[in-house]
Amino acid sequence: MTGHVLVVPETAETGLVAEARRLADRLAETRDGDVAVVAVAMDGVVDADDLTAGHADELCVLAPEDGAFEPGAAGVEARVRALETLVDEGEPRAVLLPATPDGDEIAARLGDSVRGAALVDGLLQIRDGDLAGGRPAYDGRAFEAYEFERSPVVASLALDGLAAPETAPDGEPERTSRTLAVGDDAGVERLDVVEIPEQDVSRAPTVVAGGMGLEVAADFELIENLADALGGTVAASRPPVDAGWLPYDRQVGVTGKPVDADLYVACAISGDPYHMEAVEADTLVAVNTDPEARIFEFADVGVVGDVYEYGPALAAAIRDASAESDDPDPEPAAAAGEGQR
Ligand SMILES: Cc1cc2nc3c(=O)[nH]c(=O)nc-3n(C[C@H](O)[C@H](O)[C@H](O)COP(=O)(O)OP(=O)(O)OC[C@H]3O[C@@H](n4cnc5c(N)ncnc54)[C@H](O)[C@@H]3O)c2cc1C
Repeated sequence: MTGHVLVVPETAETGLVAEARRLADRLAETRDGDVAVVAVAMDGVVDADDLTAGHADELCVLAPEDGAFEPGAAGVEARVRALETLVDEGEPRAVLLPATPDGDEIAARLGDSVRGAALVDGLLQIRDGDLAGGRPAYDGRAFEAYEFERSPVVASLALDGLAAPETAPDGEPERTSRTLAVGDDAGVERLDVVEIPEQDVSRAPTVVAGGMGLEVAADFELIENLADALGGTVAASRPPVDAGWLPYDRQVGVTGKPVDADLYVACAISGDPYHMEAVEADTLVAVNTDPEARIFEFADVGVVGDVYEYGPALAAAIRDASAESDDPDPEPAAAAGEGQR
């Protein structure tokens, strides 16, 4: 099948398949005939039954000869090899993956190995009848536009803007199963298996970070307490991590992890560019004794004060507020008082 679009979801998200459908239909307008959408369900990564609701024409359930594919970094190589086979056999117009750590890695490696064009964490459009790429830049104030010189286009797409289909598909996609030899991964030597914390700093919607304004490692209890009150995860700037107070997976910054949170609370952090470059937050709250601290340039709510005083006070206030809102039968006077604030 030449000219089709392969889409390789990692979860039941219908947005990615719907985007493949949209692009295929737009491509078809400029060609004679249809451009099919083939959804690939990697056995062990995503349940094929979850993908039947998308608008794919075909659902290809793919398994390696020896068991199942492995999600996560350790399974990337095998998935790249399996997709290489599909690309070599079918010459798709594009291969779409989600912009996740695995999807980005697979897109970059597959784009290279099939001598196609790779786009990581971007979006695809049809310009002048052909696939073109892009990505918002400078906080959405500009747009980077790319043209592809090679085919296929292998792209990991940011899922945020991808809407679920408005209409339900007619019927189910035609289902096929393939077992492929993906071979041993001789190029990768596994030295260690690192457990990713459940509340990974990069994924947590609420992050409370402490900086070098805290005096000793034990003072991070204060950060843990505030994170606990907010239901968030603990992070740090680099110096406390360098000092061995917290493990490296908690470090936020260009040499640590990026944050993309609803709420980021920066306690005793100066706001150095190496830190802030990696912080995206809908709301940033900063607590710092220095009114001139750079962090206040980014803060939606700034508290000029001592974290040893305001940290516990904030945690207590949050706990009080959530206890009140959880109380199904509040005292009339308390309820009236809350409403007036
Ligand atoms: C190549 C390179 C890579 C780097 N990568 C990273 C990185 O990935 N992440 C990162 O974070 N940094 C990184 N850094 C380090 C970075 O340059 C800064 O040194 C670091 O971010 C500063 O951390 P900080 O704000 O916690 O500490 P400081 O700069 O020491 O700031 C402490 C802040 O706490 C405030 N404070 C002090 N006491 C209190 C109190 N009681 N209550 C409230 N506030 C108080 C102070 O006013 C000050 O603003 C990197 C540096 C280099 C050169």
